[in-house]
Formats: sequence, C-alpha cells, structure tokens
Amino acid sequence: MEYDFDLFVIGAGSGGVRASRMAASYGAKVAIAEEYRIGGTCVIRGCVPKKLLVYASQFAHEIEHIAPAYGWSFDGGKFDWVKLRNNVAAEVDRLSAIYQRNINNSGVTIFETRAEIAGKNLVRLSDGREISAKYILIATGGAPFVPSDLVGADFAITSNEIFHLDKLPKNILIAGGGFIAVEFAFLLKGLGVDVSLIYRGDTVLRGFDDDIRLDVHNELKRKGIRVITHATIQKLEKSDNGVIATCSNGEICEFGQVMLALGRDPYINCLGLENAGVETKNGAIVVNTYSQTNVENIYAVGDVTNRVNLTPVAIREGAAFASTVFNNNPIAMDHTNIASAVFSDPPVGTVGLSEHDAREKFGQIDIYKTRFRPMRYALSGDETRVMMKLVVRASDQVVLGVHIVGPDAPEIIQAIAIAVKHGLTKQEFDATCAVHPTMAEELVTLKEKYVAKDLK
Ligand code: NDP
Repeated sequence: MEYDFDLFVIGAGSGGVRASRMAASYGAKVAIAEEYRIGGTCVIRGCVPKKLLVYASQFAHEIEHIAPAYGWSFDGGKFDWVKLRNNVAAEVDRLSAIYQRNINNSGVTIFETRAEIAGKNLVRLSDGREISAKYILIATGGAPFVPSDLVGADFAITSNEIFHLDKLPKNILIAGGGFIAVEFAFLLKGLGVDVSLIYRGDTVLRGFDDDIRLDVHNELKRKGIRVITHATIQKLEKSDNGVIATCSNGEICEFGQVMLALGRDPYINCLGLENAGVETKNGAIVVNTYSQTNVENIYAVGDVTNRVNLTPVAIREGAAFASTVFNNNPIAMDHTNIASAVFSDPPVGTVGLSEHDAREKFGQIDIYKTRFRPMRYALSGDETRVMMKLVVRASDQVVLGVHIVGPDAPEIIQAIAIAVKHGLTKQEFDATCAVHPTMAEELVTLKEKYVAKDLK
C-alpha cells in the first residue's frame, strides 16, 4: 500500500526532532507536526530558559558576598526582570529557529499544527486534512499536572507561564518538592523574590540519595526560603494583590503568585490513541524496549511514555527508534545509570544507585563521603559546602553511584558517569591521578570508608 509518508512524527520536541531527522537521513520520507513551538518543552519552556534564569539568579550573591573578598566592590546594583525575560525569549526564538532549519535541511516536512491519530496508519491535522503514514511516532512529551480537586487552581501558574511574567512577584508560594519546585525556589530567591515552598513530604527530592536530599533541603532554608513540610495547598482565591492560599496546616497567606510544580503528566489529551487501539497505563503510552507500542507500526518516545523523563533520554530513544525501524539496526534503549542534575544552588549531580537502593539491591555496601568548603568561597567565609559521595558494592568494589551537591556538580557528574556506566571499581577510580586544586579530585582521593556515627 502507498502511504503519504514513511513516518509521521507527532511532536517536535527533543525526541521527535531527533527521530525525524535520523529517519530522514536513512532515506525515509518523513513529516513532523507541532501544535505549539518547534523545540518542545526543553527548548521553549524548560531546561534551556530555566538554565539561563539560573545563571541570572547567581549574580547578586556573587557580587554582594563573594566578589568583595576578592577585592572587588560594586556600587549598588539593579535587576531588570523584563530585560532578562526578553533576552531569554530572544535566545529561545533563536534556538527554535535553528531546530526548524535543521528539520528543513533534513528534508522533513513540517506541519505547524496539531495532529491526532485517526487510525493505525492515519493522522488528522487540525484543519481536517488526513495524512497516511507507514509508521507513526508519538513524541508529544508531558504537561504540568494540576490536581483536579484543587479549588481555584486556575489562579496558580506552572512552569509553562513563569517565563512570561510581566513582573516578578514580591513573594511566591511554590508547591512541590521535585526538580521544578526546588530549581525555581532557588532561582527566584536569587532574583530577589521572597519564596515559600510547600511540600507534602518531610525532605525534598524524594528518590534521590538521602545525603543529596538533606543538603538541598537545608540549603533551601539557609538561603532564606521558607520550607513548609507535611502540607499541601487546599484552596486558592484571587485577591487584589495576587492569590490567597489556604493550606492543609491551617495557614492562610497571600502571595503575589502561586506556582504549582507537582509533576508532569504524559501529554495524551485528545490524541486519538483509541482510534488505533494504542495501550496506555497510568496515563502513559506503554512501549517495549524498542519504544514500540502494542500497535506494531506505532512507536512512542520521551516523556509521553513516562520512563526516564529527561531530554537526553528522549533524544536517545528517538535515535534508537530511527535506527531500529529505518536503518535495519535494532537498538534497545538502555535506561540504566543515566546521570542527571538539579540546578539548585549549589546544584546537584547524580548517577547510579542511591545508598538506600544499593543496600536494598546488594546488601553490603561501602560508602565514601566528604563534605568541605570549596576553595572559591574560602576568602569570603561563605557557608556553602560541597558533598561528594561514592556508593561502592562491597563484594567487587564496583562504584554503583556517585552523588554530588556543590558548584559545577552537573559538569562533574557528566564525566564521572562514563566511569559508573562502564562499571569501574573504586580501585580504578583511585588509580586515576587527581587534578589539583579542584573539587572533583576528591572523587579519586577518598580513602576512608564512611561509617555512620551510630555504627561506630
Ligand atoms: P517531580 O516528579 O520531580 O516532583 C513532583 C513533586 O510534586 C514531588 O515533590 C511530589 O511529592 C509532589 N506532588 C505530586 N503530586 C502532588 C499532590 N497531588 N499534592 C502535593 N504534592 C504533590 O516533578 P516536577 O514537576 O518537579 O518535574 C517534572 C519532571 O520534569 C521531572 O520528573 C523531571 O523528569 C523533569 N525535569 C528535569 C529537570 C532536570 O533534569 N534538571 C528540571 C525540571 C524538570 P512526592 O515527592 O511526595 O511524590
């Protein structure tokens, strides 16, 4: 049977774009549809603009508290949110245009409109046009989760809106204790906003190594962020100056803005999955290790499958899909030992198993751990500390996990992830000569096993 395209990709974010370009490079006739902006969450309203705001948030502290100890003095200082916002938006425009150009140069046809599945081999565009394809790839990503039972949820913003504010609020309540809540709490505080964070658990960043959680949690408080634990928002009401939040701990407070960062749901709304019988579980598209759904010609990559929801993972899944289907070279995505970062202040870098998970899986575990003040802050007396931790399997000394909180942790973890991914041992770490003076040299010079005080 003749199809309009060999491949129709729904969603031009990280995963969809990579898959479409690679499939085209293997000779496939490819189309891609995007209903919002080309580049997807990461480029348009996620990782990229967020990281630029993180950079912006660091200047005040550096200038006021660190630079003077190095002999610098500056008079006052003024922050212009609108200028920053517009500069970030311009950079996002530039990157989106590059994505678009790259797709065009690959020979992929772009439909800048919404597309839904109309049948096993059929996609319907918002103008009613129907397009047939031998294969369909769903790469629609995720969308902020907003609890349906939260009264007045419409008065809150999410990470989708935060980049476009006309002005920064004087104060903000951020709900959640995950990646987004933590990152925005630090960065908004750094930009001068009075930040409160409300989290239903006791320590933020559930799922991370406990030392990371503890250090980041304490650092939130040390930076002057009000952390409200064991509580949730129950009701939001509009007020003259912003939003009034009623919380489960009985507090009723007014904030300039309230931001919900309660996780993201796979974006499958009205996607027409039922028209092809594509299976979902807990709201995510079910796929096998080749990203193939239960419908043999329909695949899905990235956050819409809710496996590991990170940009580089979606990109790899997209590439593996293209190689499997269009290059006669099946590649199953390996989701183990994926490094990740939280751009808190200081940031987090982590790869492999947490101490807790390693003990559960392997029993006997050796821990090497250090906390110290980075040299950069020695002159200023700044209290920022670095935490570095190696989780080592006792039986064969394989390093199962590395966890860092400290300046440049995301950069360090990217390199160290190669060693963890390839199963290097503590002795092989130690055989690597240090680079001095750096923070990362600690990772190859940790000599003493850490023994918890209550075990000593
Ligand atoms: P996360 O899943 O990281 O965190 C969600 C938070 O909301 C958790 O603290 C969770 O609590 C809490 N929560 C969930 N539901 C409720 C509820 N009904 N009431 C109260 N609290 C609730 O999601 P984020 O939104 O922070 O980020 C979404 C995803 O985006 C991340 O999983 C990550 O994959 C990606 N991301 C990655 C970044 C990076 O790589 N640096 C940066 C930003 C996002 P609990 O802990 O109890 O479950």
